[in-house]
Amino acid sequence: MTQAGEGAEGPVSRREPGGHADGLSAGWDYAPAPESRDIVSIAPEYGLFVAGEFAPAAGGRTFSTVNPATEETLSRVAAAGPADVDRAVAAARAAYDQVWGPMPGAERAKYLYRIARALQERAREFAVLESLDNGKPIRESRDVDVPLAAAHFFYYAGWADKLEHAGFGPAPRPLGVAGQVIPWNFPLMMAAWKLAPALAAGNTCVLKPAETTPLTALLLAEVCHQAGLPPGVVNVLTGAGDAGAALVAHPGIDKVAFTGSTEVGKEIARSVAGTGKKLTLELGGKAANIVFDDAPVEQAVEGIVNGIFFNQGHVCCAGSRLLVQDSVAGAVVDRLRRRLASLRLGDPLDKNTDIGAVNSPEQLDKITRLSATGEAEGARRWSPPCRLPDRGYWFAPTIFTGVSQSHRIAREEIFGPVLSVLTFRTPEEAVAKANNTPYGLSAGAWTEKGSRILWLAQRLRAGVIWANTYNRFDPASPFGGYQESGFGREGGRHGLAAYLDA
Ligand code: NDP
Repeated sequence: MTQAGEGAEGPVSRREPGGHADGLSAGWDYAPAPESRDIVSIAPEYGLFVAGEFAPAAGGRTFSTVNPATEETLSRVAAAGPADVDRAVAAARAAYDQVWGPMPGAERAKYLYRIARALQERAREFAVLESLDNGKPIRESRDVDVPLAAAHFFYYAGWADKLEHAGFGPAPRPLGVAGQVIPWNFPLMMAAWKLAPALAAGNTCVLKPAETTPLTALLLAEVCHQAGLPPGVVNVLTGAGDAGAALVAHPGIDKVAFTGSTEVGKEIARSVAGTGKKLTLELGGKAANIVFDDAPVEQAVEGIVNGIFFNQGHVCCAGSRLLVQDSVAGAVVDRLRRRLASLRLGDPLDKNTDIGAVNSPEQLDKITRLSATGEAEGARRWSPPCRLPDRGYWFAPTIFTGVSQSHRIAREEIFGPVLSVLTFRTPEEAVAKANNTPYGLSAGAWTEKGSRILWLAQRLRAGVIWANTYNRFDPASPFGGYQESGFGREGGRHGLAAYLDA
């Protein structure tokens, strides 16, 4: 693999992992500060977690999970097939009928609190494992993914005995067995977003993590066991897309919750149509991050960077379209370039790393191909001087200027560290451009005028709108989209509705 992320205006080359990545630091640099991986013990093989026990898949199939920063195989993991889906759904049904469904909410809450505390106690272990399996910087897994996962369990533990006061009628009932399919970009956090509200509401779960990132879901299964969760309440089926498809199509489940690509979301919607299963879909996005001429530029630039380069841009709500007011566009892009030149790309376990590895060769290929269309369609490409490690899957932070709304890079979800910059002259034009997308998940606005933020919020068609900040998440705050970004909300009181017969 060579030349990934090579920029028309910024050369990208390969380097040994662990060194500095930015071209400005030749004279001064941070010393490496790698987090030790000794805290994590990864077994050579993992089974499926069904009915409270780990066991091989019925067909004996396995697949390997790889560290995307080094291409090292971390472990081999069982690949679930239809017989395993049957077994997991049966275990979840039995647990629902016999234990979890009849259990008082106050009792269910105790288990959720225990899981939340175990996540906190084992936070370092989870963070290191997440960075190893996913490629994201330890700073993010340690400071965002793991604390937010624990916070979700704490938050929904608090609701478990108060469901009758949640505004869904005097005696809201759980749905039954939930089939939950999650992606690779926030493996632990997505597991928490799915499991915590489902369990609090009294459902039992069968969770299918993404093929490339199964390890933290399996560690979470171990934590469920550690917390004494009754067997069958949470089941984890590792495997590929076919396992996800078999799970959502299984007649024994009552609810499907999916986060992932719009394409697979549509397949799932077709598969459950007419079955009576309740469905929530959290799909892709192409969010506009809108910077007005009165915005504090340094603050906005930090928000732009956080919006698109956090988690290598593998974020459904990433601010991948920067809409900047014409009069300040030059100044904002100049500062943005200077800021990008100081980002550190490399070893995800180094505490100073800002940009880690792309999760898989397939995703790297997609980012590379879509970025090439940006250049072919006439946009100007720029990356800071940046040397990429020799092994692993890497893509340099990239900005496209001179982007028009018809370009593919302005319309399609790239899901990588690639920003498309467009300009506008008036607030009305900003709204029109921001809404010119089949998606509708999120948006950001940078201005010092509160009235303008309220005016915008009424006109932007997006489920989440951040004002003078970006990519902020809180378990109490609902999250979800419109149009091709899906439907249903996760988080907050709204997140309970998805798991209640209300
Ligand atoms: P997918 O939507 O294919 O994967 C999400 C999850 O669904 C994974 O667990 C996957 O399993 C599973 N899955 C795949 N096919 C099916 C199916 N037919 N029925 C049920 N479950 C299925 O995303 P990818 O990982 O393939 O990424 C493709 C693109 O999707 C990315 O390039 C990105 O643009 C976008 N994406 C968007 C996300 C978002 O949150 N908006 C999240 C992830 C991806 P498996 O891992 O084995 O394929």
